[in-house]
Amino acid sequence: MKTFDINKLVRKNVRAMESYSSARDEFKDFESDLIFLDANENPFENGLNRYPDPKQKNLKKVLSELKDIRENQIILGNGSDELLDLLFRAFCEPNQDSVITLPPTYGMYSVLANLNAIENKEIVLQNDFEPNVDLILRATDETTKILFLCSPNNPTGNTFSEDKIEILLKNFSGLIVIDEAYIDFSSKESWLKKIDEFPNLIILQTLSKAYGLAGIRLGILYANPEIISVLDKIKPPYNINKMSQEKALERIENYDAVLQEIEVILSERKKMIVALNTIQFIEKIYNSDANFILIKVDNSKKRYDQLLKKGIVVRNRSGQELCENCLRITIGTENENQQLLETLKSL
Ligand SMILES: *Cc1c(COP(=O)(O)O)cnc(C)c1O
Repeated sequence: MKTFDINKLVRKNVRAMESYSSARDEFKDFESDLIFLDANENPFENGLNRYPDPKQKNLKKVLSELKDIRENQIILGNGSDELLDLLFRAFCEPNQDSVITLPPTYGMYSVLANLNAIENKEIVLQNDFEPNVDLILRATDETTKILFLCSPNNPTGNTFSEDKIEILLKNFSGLIVIDEAYIDFSSKESWLKKIDEFPNLIILQTLSKAYGLAGIRLGILYANPEIISVLDKIKPPYNINKMSQEKALERIENYDAVLQEIEVILSERKKMIVALNTIQFIEKIYNSDANFILIKVDNSKKRYDQLLKKGIVVRNRSGQELCENCLRITIGTENENQQLLETLKSL
């Protein structure tokens, strides 16, 4: 196996810099009963007058128990989007480095590559929506810092083959980010257990989908502690606000309720696939390991507009590679799904 040297991957300015030391960093025991005159806060209590815990200790503790990994293997972000941005800024030298993405996939990777002036080498998925391992490895050179694998993939819905991911983990010389935003809906296992085995593996998860908390913006990145400490060094000190930390904690402590909702969504997904099969203008229904279904229709623009007129918003993915005339439909409540089906039947 290739050797892993994080110093070869980190940007020079990041390696050299010191992180911002916030008042709450310098005084770590901030929950104790002391008089705090160090952070220029308003002293009158209203529940939110104090800065939030910059290390999110309580939240990391419950996450580490839930996921059976160590707290120093976790960093939290203001949504996965912030964590993705931190990855670019920690590891990719503007106007010099490159990343690899596999369209059709989540749009933020290429937006962030552009924003950070990083070349984005796009290696289109195969027709079966699996990564083309040979092309990926051939496109890799010493400037290629990160490979983004979204699995289950958005918008196609499939989980990538384990063998292919394993080959990439063993042969790709940069960091591999597996974006598992939809893993809670998948029949396949998370790669989280492999972060001890592969020092270049980064797992991204989020509370925005299965956990039902898109509104609080909470993304989670798991990786080896060396990677985590680089990201910790550059993150905004108070990036997770107090209300989000509290809501997230409450939800994770009530994980059974999350599991129950996932079960309903999965059974609805199954029902929807059967029902969509009976609709004439739907030409193909792709397998889904996520909380959405990608379908190919006769004319996606026309069907999108028809649905919109009836008050139902889906996502037209037709502009993306391999997705001509494809609509992406999120699984809703039983009632919402029923309305969608009735509307589709009436078109
Ligand atoms: C929805 C989604 C996310 C979630 O992003 P947040 O910023 O955490 O809401 C991440 N990755 C993919 C592929 C997604 O579809």
